[in-house]
Amino acid sequence: LTYSTMFNPPAEMHDRFEAAAAKVRAGLGARHDLFIGGKDVKAASYARVTSPIDTSLVLGEFAEATVADVDTAVAAAKAAAARWRKTPVADRLAIMRRAADIIEERVYEMAAAVALEVGKNRMEALGEVQETADFFRHYADDFEANGGFDRKLPNDPLDGWVSTNRSVMKPHGVWAVIVPFNFPFALAGGPIAAALVTGNTVVHKGAPSTPWSGWMLADCLRDAGLPAGVFNDLGGGSDEVGKALVGHKDVGGVTFTGSHEVGMAIQRQMLAGKFPKPVIAEMGGKNACMVTKHADLERAVLGCSRSAFGLSGQKCSALSRIYVDQVVADDFIARLTKQVESLVVGNPLEKPVYMGPVATKEAYERYKALLAELAASGGKILAGGKLLTEGDFARGFFVAPTLVEAPADHPLFARELFLPILMVARVASNEESMSHINNTPLGLTAGVFGNAAEVDWFLDHVEAGVTYVNRPQGATTGAWPGYQPFGGWKGSGNTGCAIASFYYLPRYMREQSQTVVE
Ligand code: GLU
Repeated sequence: LTYSTMFNPPAEMHDRFEAAAAKVRAGLGARHDLFIGGKDVKAASYARVTSPIDTSLVLGEFAEATVADVDTAVAAAKAAAARWRKTPVADRLAIMRRAADIIEERVYEMAAAVALEVGKNRMEALGEVQETADFFRHYADDFEANGGFDRKLPNDPLDGWVSTNRSVMKPHGVWAVIVPFNFPFALAGGPIAAALVTGNTVVHKGAPSTPWSGWMLADCLRDAGLPAGVFNDLGGGSDEVGKALVGHKDVGGVTFTGSHEVGMAIQRQMLAGKFPKPVIAEMGGKNACMVTKHADLERAVLGCSRSAFGLSGQKCSALSRIYVDQVVADDFIARLTKQVESLVVGNPLEKPVYMGPVATKEAYERYKALLAELAASGGKILAGGKLLTEGDFARGFFVAPTLVEAPADHPLFARELFLPILMVARVASNEESMSHINNTPLGLTAGVFGNAAEVDWFLDHVEAGVTYVNRPQGATTGAWPGYQPFGGWKGSGNTGCAIASFYYLPRYMREQSQTVVE
């Protein structure tokens, strides 16, 4: 599968997904342990995790890690670190590529599982699993193509002595990977692959609502032949477990994906020890799109709708605000309203469904509270704006995709919602759009629909790490390893160099300058 097949799926893809979904559903309810030091490890307690599609559906019982398990997992990763670092690069790369093959072999089962666990539609579920496999291959290829990022440097002649100078990149040791609920495969697999290929060992902690995906990924890595202790899974541990992991004296670095607040707290925590440790933090977004008076409105409507309502608005990259030129605003808003009304909401395992439920009860309650806030604060709801509670919707966290028109200074243009609520405002000029777009502490993704001159100007001024121009497949979403490096500016990330970019893998290593005099 590729990213483009997600937009043009062959019939066979649907058949295979349906067969896999039936198989996965028949096997629900099993108990899953932690995975530490190459072994399944029993936990003191297990949580029953249910599906957001139907909360009477128990996906399984999942080990609840404790702070003591963090110690055991970090110790296992530390014990495995020296050997893994010394494993010949060719062997390391072969294991990475085998992991990619295994993920691909299981793509349909894993997709069905993540559809049930997160509530994402089948295309997005398949896409996420394929992306995970692609991350393993991408980082293996990148590491290989760049010779592990080591460099031979010129010799410096000192009084006739001959020296050999080299820059050698080495791993930090144990790397912690902390993963959010929305992409429990891809946002785990990406950093795990990066940390492993650069010679670190890994302790992974998923989100409390999505331990199943983490467990399945661990199973792929086990089958790929990773030596014991090189990868360890703490399940969907609590915040307390996350804090203990980040603060552990033997953890050398952390990749965190999640909210701005937690990301900042982790960075402070990693500065608070005896020496600073590296953190790669991918945080929130309040992503905007500018629709100019020269925009192709058909494209703009498609791109905006896909990016706002894919995965029920729960992507860091989701579109949550549009600034449209007043000259085309009536036409654009009318078309967008029709498009939003036409989106099929339902059980995301069913073929025609575009939008499933929101992933957690907390998100459902927050959506409900926002409706009340909108009613009180004067936003005009053009589409959606309701909880879906009848019939098949009764046992899940279903809400309607919602389009709201409001003046650009409405407070919901400023707050990250992580819900299927899209705000649109009319503006008098592109300059006005840009001042709104950049008037936020966040800067992850941004989109524009306009003519060539407008697009150049936009790219020159916009403060965002990932940009899309005139893209109907997604105005702000849909980055793919190898094609779109993905990382935020400002409060959206501390990267400055993004996921899957040429500059990403070196962040998992530390440079040693080696000058050897013969
Ligand atoms: N990779 C996804 C995209 O480009 C977003 C991942 C995220 O939500 O962090 O849409």
